[in-house]
Amino acid sequence: MELEEGDRVKVEKTGVEYEGIVMPSTTGRIIIKMDSGYNAGIDKEGATVTVVQKKKDMMLSPKAAEKDEIEPRKGLPKISILSTGGTIASKIDYRTGAVTSQFSADDILRAIPELMDIANFSGRVVYNILSENMKADYWKTLAKAVVEEIKNGADGIIVAHGTDTMMYSAAALSFMIDTPVPIVFVGSQRSADRPSSDNAVNAICAAKVAVSDIAEVSVVMHSDTSDEKCSIHRATKVRKMHTSRRDAFRSVNSEPVGYVDYTNGKIFTSLPYVKRDEKELALNDSLEPRCALVKFTPGADPAILGYFIDAGYKGIVIEGTGLGHVSTDWVPQIERATSKEIPVMVTSQCLYGRICDRVYDTGRDMLKAGAVEGEDMLPEVALVKMMWVLGQSEDYSTAVNMLKENFKSEINERSLF
Ligand code: ASP
Repeated sequence: MELEEGDRVKVEKTGVEYEGIVMPSTTGRIIIKMDSGYNAGIDKEGATVTVVQKKKDMMLSPKAAEKDEIEPRKGLPKISILSTGGTIASKIDYRTGAVTSQFSADDILRAIPELMDIANFSGRVVYNILSENMKADYWKTLAKAVVEEIKNGADGIIVAHGTDTMMYSAAALSFMIDTPVPIVFVGSQRSADRPSSDNAVNAICAAKVAVSDIAEVSVVMHSDTSDEKCSIHRATKVRKMHTSRRDAFRSVNSEPVGYVDYTNGKIFTSLPYVKRDEKELALNDSLEPRCALVKFTPGADPAILGYFIDAGYKGIVIEGTGLGHVSTDWVPQIERATSKEIPVMVTSQCLYGRICDRVYDTGRDMLKAGAVEGEDMLPEVALVKMMWVLGQSEDYSTAVNMLKENFKSEINERSLF
């Protein structure tokens, strides 16, 4: 029988059965939207297709297909997928146009069957939000959930997360958790219903890293615009640098730890990293959320900084110009903050390079006023570190010393970039 878009079909391929609605396809593969909302692209070669219901015979809301549980396979490692929402977890129902972000590990496995060869999966929905709605309290809940999964025997963790603020959440978990297993953040720039979606390649590469030896918090996303490799970015050195490209994520002031070659599933590393079981599991999840990241711009009113001091903020990160500067009239406000034992750390809006406040007068004045140089840390990482440090110690000089200390490779001792 001739297949038409909108028909409900069953496709059987290498022992796995998919059921869903036929979608438009330009590649010759059969694309079906499953009841989970995810799309499966199946090579027609060797596949058996049965039409369950023709589009024209279908009622407006057909009964969801019965789902069979996917049997765990012997001898494979265990990955726990924690979903927080974002594009990677979103589903679009073509008939109603509704977008939701509930999913289960079964849904993902049915959408991306290649994952089944890598590990046995369990899934847990921690949040169901776009990442612009994340906040420090949610990072704590996520960190607790990750630690529980590790305690329950997960060999690796995947955190599915919106891309917009993934770098903050990943950095936060990196500071909060000492981990013996990989914790891998993954997202997608284009949702699963779009032919250019990056979600399957990113998820498969993330799973490879989750079962690898790299026991750090990392972000695994497309390396370039091809579907051939994903970079493994260290959580404290990564930034989203493009609004829409699939290769939006870049390591800044560092190389990626390595990459996954999607074509053969192999991992190549280029930096030293913390190995599996090298660290004991530990959770230090206290955070001080009342911290601000303030961008200095030419002519900006020093009262901007004054606002945060008077509003009861406990720590301030400044995104200064060049080597780490603000205008001379901001310096008294820095002094006012530090005299109230509010740490002030300076980073650069250049993003690349290291802070050095000893070159120009303004910088030297800032140091005299008590500002701490943020070395080669990204402003966002410096903010998360400020929250974490102030959560660990309320003592001002201890906090200032901790800000200068390197905890999770957020600071390079020497500048190589
Ligand atoms: N705004 C979305 C989010 O960060 C974009 C994405 O999912 O990538 O949740």
